Amino acid sequence: MTKTVFVTGASGYIASHIVEQLLTTTTHTVRGSVRNLKDAAKTAHLTSLPHAAERLQLVEADLTTDGAFNQAFQGCDAVIHTASPYVLNVKDPQRDLVDPAEQGTLNVLRAVVSSGTVRTVVITSSMVAMTDEPVPGHAFTEADWNTKSNLKRNAYSYSKVRAEKAAWEFVELPENKDKFRLVFIHPFAVIGPSHTKTVNVSVEIIQEIVTGKMPGIVDLNFGYVDVRDVARAHIRAVEVETAQGRYVCAAEAWHLEKVIEVLKREFPGYCYPSFRLPNALVCVASYFEGQGRGSFLRSHIGKGGYEFDNAKIKKDLGMEFMSVETSVMDTLKDLRKWGNVPEEK
Ligand code: NDP
Repeated sequence: MTKTVFVTGASGYIASHIVEQLLTTTTHTVRGSVRNLKDAAKTAHLTSLPHAAERLQLVEADLTTDGAFNQAFQGCDAVIHTASPYVLNVKDPQRDLVDPAEQGTLNVLRAVVSSGTVRTVVITSSMVAMTDEPVPGHAFTEADWNTKSNLKRNAYSYSKVRAEKAAWEFVELPENKDKFRLVFIHPFAVIGPSHTKTVNVSVEIIQEIVTGKMPGIVDLNFGYVDVRDVARAHIRAVEVETAQGRYVCAAEAWHLEKVIEVLKREFPGYCYPSFRLPNALVCVASYFEGQGRGSFLRSHIGKGGYEFDNAKIKKDLGMEFMSVETSVMDTLKDLRKWGNVPEEK
């Protein structure tokens, strides 16, 4: 059945893929919000997508403006809420991260209820709402909540926890109960090609590996998922009417050494980090990286490997994930395409 699906933060890295897939793999009408309609850098790649002329409409909305989505959601069937600040180093974590994430989510949900037509809401959370560090021997599932982050420790992760908690509390209020189906998608580090030249925070690591910004191999193990799979998961969550609750969305966890190995094999012309940096040295250096990035490094370096269970998303949404190897290679090819890394020597 053809629906009208609203995508918040439509110009973002993940959301642009969601919009593209909605236009090319479904017959749905797509509405999307951006912060500034006049900023062609944020809209041109969307309006030039196949079928955009007939089925894509963009509107302006800021998460922090009360009622910003009230008019926009009128007549929509589903909302995919991706917009949330994804930055690690900020001046004021409450103002710059937590408020837009939490108040923005509530703003969206209030507009959903007042629309009277939206029956499905899919929100982009993150693995960081489940944990902000690996725990050896523990495979993270949808039952896990990150209880460690706060405004000083991994404030971005904290913003994702606060936004999700606010949403679950909102749906439990008697006036909102059973008004709509709520799904949270929890991607790990998202890599893969981008619709714009902007380098997403999660892709920076691949850029740093081949541009000499990483002086040695950092003892960092992380879960990865391709941006095209993340987009597909959101759309499946709209389509599969039994989908409900939280979904771990990740392919595999890899140590940085393995990422470097694959890149070195396929793209030998770059100068790669070749020796392991001592963890103690990275921890000291992390204090010069800014509060957000530094805090992230300290909660991950030398903490062992991530384990997680992605069985629920595979079973409920029929997801199969691309190999991390393909994603890593496609990421570098895309960084080169945009001129964000030089060609090989
Ligand atoms: P982007 O930075 O590309 O996307 C974030 C989007 O949020 C942008 O469209 C941005 O708009 C919008 N946004 C930020 N603040 C506001 C605001 N105050 N009002 C309106 N819109 C706002 O990053 P991603 O695509 O990676 O992030 C999308 C979602 O995915 C986020 O919720 C993020 O937390 C989540 N996520 C990302 C992961 C990753 O590895 N990339 C992993 C797990 C979760 P603008 O372009 O105008 O700044």
